[in-house]
Amino acid sequence: AHAFDLDAVLAQFPLLVAGRRGEKPLVYLDNAATTHKPECVLSALEYYYRCANANAGRGVYPLATASTKLYEEARRTAALFVGAADDEIVFTSGATAALNLVAYSWGMEHLQPGDEVVLTMAEHHSNLLPWQQVARLKGAKLVYLLPDAQGRIPDEEIDAKIGPRTKIAAVAHVSNVLGSVFPVRRVADAVHAYGGVLVADCAQSVAHLPVDVRALDADFLAFSGHKMYGPMGVGVLYGRRELLAGMEPLLRGGGMIESVFEQHAAFADAPARFEAGTPNVAGAVGLAEAMRFLLEVGYDAVRARERRLVERLLAGLAALPDVRVHGAPHGEVGVADGGAPEPSRCGAVSFNVRGVDANDVAAALARDNVAVRAGAHCAEPLVRYLGERATCRASLALYNTEEDVDRFLSSVENAKRNVSRMIMASMH
Ligand code: PMP
Repeated sequence: AHAFDLDAVLAQFPLLVAGRRGEKPLVYLDNAATTHKPECVLSALEYYYRCANANAGRGVYPLATASTKLYEEARRTAALFVGAADDEIVFTSGATAALNLVAYSWGMEHLQPGDEVVLTMAEHHSNLLPWQQVARLKGAKLVYLLPDAQGRIPDEEIDAKIGPRTKIAAVAHVSNVLGSVFPVRRVADAVHAYGGVLVADCAQSVAHLPVDVRALDADFLAFSGHKMYGPMGVGVLYGRRELLAGMEPLLRGGGMIESVFEQHAAFADAPARFEAGTPNVAGAVGLAEAMRFLLEVGYDAVRARERRLVERLLAGLAALPDVRVHGAPHGEVGVADGGAPEPSRCGAVSFNVRGVDANDVAAALARDNVAVRAGAHCAEPLVRYLGERATCRASLALYNTEEDVDRFLSSVENAKRNVSRMIMASMH
């Protein structure tokens, strides 16, 4: 295990270093939206454009082969990172593009009238809207696993909702609103028992928990680079080799063909088959660097640190009257047989202050330079299910500090007090 050297980690994030200098230092708790980037990622991007820029996979001159080599090395890094083979890794522009690719390609081809696609009520719209459209076009139906009051998906929900009609289960590994860690492996086992496939949306887990395609037994798995310290505009779709082999490409264009004739064409094998057009080579190179960064810090160290912060944040919010926290009251749950506790919450904490609009809370925090997000977080069905129109969300990353959490908490307390004062004043 690695020791976590907070100062050394912080020093690698230039935006945070600068943000801490001001009169109102930046408290960045919007990491579920995007994380900041360490020096190694920034220099990988710059290095690529300064020293290795050429279109990958096409030219034979040295610069082009160097670019191709960097791109394929990045793919190798991503494959090792999730425990897959190189040809099972498709680079996309992000989790959204990856999930759309699975829905519009595998889903379009395999869904039939009467089939069911099982989602959780907590899916991000990017793992909901593509399935909604494909299900509509194919006469299939969406079925939702409902989280309980602690933000967990109970086993009984899985047993009750997954059955012979289930062709696909597409679930988040970690909810971007509740921070809940969902039982992806349990869902995978259930859907596999009926011959269906499991799609894991790991956009919110990959910065906090190791993501391994075999451990989750995922058939498809998607995540973005920018929420795990990598660049925007790049992400990964993992697909099991047998599934990718039979899949129609979604985008057609350069770099993905075997041969093209006037009336028909034959496509290259995966992964090139699914990467039409000039890829984001710099992005892939930067993402590979972010993966190395995370592995170097070590998931055990990340988890230990974030767990302490999330407990502090939850305890602080629980101590404030009129604050409702959604989902798990703790970052971990005990295991019945005395084994290691399992993470129940990662990264995100959503809450509401009674009587105060979530957007007003976020605006009050913004005046203290505390960055959180308010709204439905691209998960409207969930927020409605929680009985809210919007929630306020604080989300952690490995570089957050105890001081960040404390400044956030006092900002929430002030916001609450100021709003009550305004309400009192308006009544006189
Ligand atoms: N799934 C989840 C759970 C997310 O939180 C997000 C981003 N908020 C996405 C998918 C989509 O990621 P991107 O916007 O990077 O494509």
